[in-house]
Amino acid sequence: MTLPETTNQRRQWLIRTGRYMLLGGLSVLSLNLIDRALRGECVRSESPCQSCELFKACELSKAAEARRATTEGNAS
Ligand code: SF4
Repeated sequence: MTLPETTNQRRQWLIRTGRYMLLGGLSVLSLNLIDRALRGECVRSESPCQSCELFKACELSKAAEARRATTEGNAS
């Protein structure tokens, strides 16, 4: 017994749609991971560290430089 043609077409459409949704999700996830890798884990690469909510606990080199600049600025 074979499936009616419309049922088979619907099944193929659902399979294609699911495949494209999965591909889209994987693309978004990959771009997100690449973006994070390029930013070096920094969550706010465009703004100064002093305005970042993670500044006190951040161990990235950008934050260390900002801390050093702040303490040098306070010393003089
Ligand atoms: S404190 Fe850290 S996470 Fe925040 S902007 Fe500076 S380097 Fe990035």
